Amino acid sequence: MNHVLEIAGLTKTFGGLTATDNVSLTVNAGEIHALIGPNGAGKSTLINQICGELMPNAGHIHLAGRDITRLPPAERVALGLGRTFQITSLLDDMTVRENLALAVQAREGGNFRIFDRAANRAEVWDEVAEILAASALGPRAGVTVADLAHGEKKQLELLMALSQRPRLLLLDEPMAGLGHLESQQMIDALLAARGDCAMLLVEHDMDAVFALADRVTVLVYGRVIAAGNADEIRANPAVRDAYLGE
Ligand code: ADP
Ligand code: MG
Repeated sequence: MNHVLEIAGLTKTFGGLTATDNVSLTVNAGEIHALIGPNGAGKSTLINQICGELMPNAGHIHLAGRDITRLPPAERVALGLGRTFQITSLLDDMTVRENLALAVQAREGGNFRIFDRAANRAEVWDEVAEILAASALGPRAGVTVADLAHGEKKQLELLMALSQRPRLLLLDEPMAGLGHLESQQMIDALLAARGDCAMLLVEHDMDAVFALADRVTVLVYGRVIAAGNADEIRANPAVRDAYLGE
């Protein structure tokens, strides 16, 4: 099968609380798979098990056919697992272009925080220019991060994550804190990246979910209560009761 990600029976408990309860799902190549559910449903706990920050009590995680259940986070990254860089990891007094160059050089084993010889190579800057030319952030290439709007920082995080060329990108609420126009720009950027990598997207903004997702999995109290395409999820009575509040 061409599953980029396959999760089977993933269970994580915190004391007496079962935060993810026997969760199974797959993400196919080129697919955007959304994970939705109310606060406390276990969405972040699931993402943290996939990236290796939390160890499951039971279950398995396969990335491109490899069992990564017990691997440390860095080995998962090396196998193609990507996650958005947090705004806090951007270097404030450097420009958009320089932050992106650091990310590109880090992909080839360079240091993330300082320029080394690799970053002076023309290919790094050519790649940065190419990425920015295709992005809404292009005109802001020379602006320091401290002077960016919140939505622009989120765009930069996404470009830095994509520059690692992940097989699978984990996105935990990329629309959080964005205004309407910024959300639309983020949706456009994610749609443009679809095809380059598969995505598992946790998101509360249902307009964004339905605009982006090929498939949707619904978690409630740690359990998958429904999975299907956007139309099936929208029409599912259990989902409407539990989550969509209609
Ligand atoms: P979501 O991201 O869907 O809002 P979380 O995965 O953050 O949900 O949380 C799922 C449940 O697990 C919640 O009841 C939360 O309080 C609990 N939880 C999450 N992380 C921890 C932790 N490190 N220790 C104890 N309980 C936790
Ligand atoms: Mg969460």
